[in-house]
Amino acid sequence: MNKPLHHFTDASHGPSAKADRPLSPRVTAQKALEIAGSLQTSLDPTRLIELFSLEVAALMGHQGIRYRNEDLNLDVKLGRKARHACTYTLNLGDEALGKLTLRRNEKFSEADTVVLEQLLCSLLYPLRNALLYQDALELAQRDPLTGICNRSALDEMMHQEVSHARRQGSSCAMIMLDIDHFKDINDKYGHIIGDCALKAVANMAKSCKREGDLLFRYGGEEFVVLMRDTDRDGAALLAERVRSHIENTPWNCSGAELTMTVSIGVSVLQDGDTPVSLFARADQALYSAKRNGRNQVCVADPALQ
Ligand code: GH3
Ligand code: MG
Ligand code: MG
Repeated sequence: MNKPLHHFTDASHGPSAKADRPLSPRVTAQKALEIAGSLQTSLDPTRLIELFSLEVAALMGHQGIRYRNEDLNLDVKLGRKARHACTYTLNLGDEALGKLTLRRNEKFSEADTVVLEQLLCSLLYPLRNALLYQDALELAQRDPLTGICNRSALDEMMHQEVSHARRQGSSCAMIMLDIDHFKDINDKYGHIIGDCALKAVANMAKSCKREGDLLFRYGGEEFVVLMRDTDRDGAALLAERVRSHIENTPWNCSGAELTMTVSIGVSVLQDGDTPVSLFARADQALYSAKRNGRNQVCVADPALQ
């Protein structure tokens, strides 16, 4: 195991208030073993940092801890800020595992950092395993072509969002979008340009939605947006914004400038709805939009369950 690279950052001004209380190497090694054992119990990086923080706090005291991993978009902040900070760049071999900062009001002594580094070694393998697991989970829920969430993520999030709306007594809406005559784009320009069109639609839908709205690629050329706290008017407004943006925005691929249109079905959560019935109504509305001539938004009749 590689020793973690570390950068020590001392934010102190004025003398340290801390009395030295070094732990013996034997006690530290024993503690590191115990910590490694307790860190085997989770594959959730946030939980690991929580456990590590508790163990270190019991041993040498600190006010706060922060763990950042930009690749996985993780930023775990526990406790509070303090005057002194000690930051480590965590590496295992060539693998970068992120940065960990401990904060406390007392200055970190040389002896403290020796102990801390030994304890950090017990974090490295469990953290690496947890990050690999998160990476695999994340990958399984992502559409490789467009980079947005896939159908498996949609199934999970539909249940989550419907339950959330029920608990909060709030509304929840869904839009389902399908590219018009997409087969013609493939047939005329080839599948590479077709793939490019799919990416363009994903990006355009992303640019129109609110930050909290969730965008998925459901299948071939079908996309879904799930919206929290959104009623019929709000959902219809977003759907129309997406439709009009796509119709009016030419996109470029391999030098070709093309335009396309989409049809959209909208449904809003009703009493007695399940994720499946909410989805089925958006789907029916989408087919109505197609039947009515495409390039339009159709809002589902709430009476159709
Ligand atoms: P409509 O207006 O009725 O929706 O017509 P359409 O041509 O869009 O619908 P249809 O279902 O007939 O065709 C969908 C096409 O989407 C056929 C399929 O080859 C294509 N497709 C599905 N997935 C992909 C993909 O990942 N890449 C590309 N390039 N094409 C795809
Ligand atoms: Mg389709
Ligand atoms: Mg289509």
